[in-house]
Amino acid sequence: MKYKDLPAWSRMAADWGENYFATIRRRPVRSSAKPGEFLSKLPAAAPEKPDDMHTIFEDFERMVPDGMTHWQHPRFFAYFSANAAPASILAEQLANYIAANCMLWQTSPAATELETRMVDWFRDSLGLPGHFRGVIHDSATVANLCAVLTMREKALNWDGVANGISGQRQPRIYATSENHSSIDKAARIAGIGSANLVRVSTDDERSMRPESLRHAIEADLAAGLVPAGVVLCVGGTSTGAVDGIAPVAAVAENFGLNIHVDAAWAGAAMICDEFRRHWEGIEQVDSIVINPHKWIGAQFDCSVQFLANPDSQIRTVGLRPDYLSTSSVGQITNYNEWTIPLGRRFRALKLWFVFRAYGVEGLREMIRNHVSWVRELQSRFDSDPEFEVLTTCPFGLFTFRLSGSDEFADKNTRQLLERVNNGGQIYLTQTTIGGRFAIRMTAGQFECTKADVDAVYPIVKEAGENLRA
Ligand code: PLP
Repeated sequence: MKYKDLPAWSRMAADWGENYFATIRRRPVRSSAKPGEFLSKLPAAAPEKPDDMHTIFEDFERMVPDGMTHWQHPRFFAYFSANAAPASILAEQLANYIAANCMLWQTSPAATELETRMVDWFRDSLGLPGHFRGVIHDSATVANLCAVLTMREKALNWDGVANGISGQRQPRIYATSENHSSIDKAARIAGIGSANLVRVSTDDERSMRPESLRHAIEADLAAGLVPAGVVLCVGGTSTGAVDGIAPVAAVAENFGLNIHVDAAWAGAAMICDEFRRHWEGIEQVDSIVINPHKWIGAQFDCSVQFLANPDSQIRTVGLRPDYLSTSSVGQITNYNEWTIPLGRRFRALKLWFVFRAYGVEGLREMIRNHVSWVRELQSRFDSDPEFEVLTTCPFGLFTFRLSGSDEFADKNTRQLLERVNNGGQIYLTQTTIGGRFAIRMTAGQFECTKADVDAVYPIVKEAGENLRA
């Protein structure tokens, strides 16, 4: 295939995409593939001679979609959505044609400057103060790692990057167990170690107790350890837990600790004024991550990290070898210096298309709808004695299970979930709350309607009845 053949095939792909979206509701949301099933259909070695493009395309159509779980199905209620607005899919197609590596300003001036402006647009729509600047990473995992590395280095006065961390006094990071596992991963990769990720206790609302944080820090200081920073969550993955930023900041400030806020999912809701009370004090933190690929509609991957002072992070993860040096230093930003990978995709384009195609007002309306539909659904489960709602959260995520003894509810809720997902009409996932098995429900797909969310209750109810029969 040559570049000259690409337009015709791109049109084929667009037609395929049109049909995919037109018929997606007929597909089971979660793939019913068996492990190894797809692999067994693939030849063991790459072809020596080129295959005909028609055959390649036919094989794709015949084999791939049925082997996939359909994240853009409007009834995908599992995990958090990776919601891809049509305008964002289009932007990705255009970025694919240019196929730039946006590692330096010089390798991608428009992409770099668009990134700066998109981060500013996003910051302002979230109501964040103007001192925050930012960078677009691939994932919140990388943003969290950058934040943890920066905390570590600030606490060690950048001796870790110079001399390594063995032989240093032990840095300590504080978070609750509601944080995403990428924080555990960051602690491991940063050489801090899981044992030095201190789990601060939570209150009845699953929020960090500031007094417990203070005690943990004081005990560590007394033991000669080095408190490095606090990671808070606004919309934790399991149940949507929200830490109180202002009360924690009041403690952290006394000890000069960095604060990073992981709002990968729920941060997007802050484009709506009414949710902002849930991150009161946000202006005091050092770093925040929000994934537009989760709820704003910028196709995966797109994760924005806001930084109160980018210099600390650049000092930690940025390098400028001779072969990357360019002119205009001082007037330009080389975003690779703000993150871990050198090579970077052109991610700002999809944010530009999304903001312009829907307007912030359009995105607000979508988020408000999702939240209110999920709340309504939650009240249906709440008023049915057959179910127990275990947790709720302000952003439209609740967990529930069958009522009954722990033993009965654990076993049967597990089976209920399996039945529901095997049915293919909706897709939900699970979590545990204090060791109790629960089903998680949240909505976020771009084309999801009230009817889609309303469909959850009768489907779950019927599966529950069949289970008892
Ligand atoms: N933080 C939170 C709160 C999350 O929910 C997730 C994923 O769901 C992550 C971090 C990791 O996100 P990513 O897949 O962008 O690394």
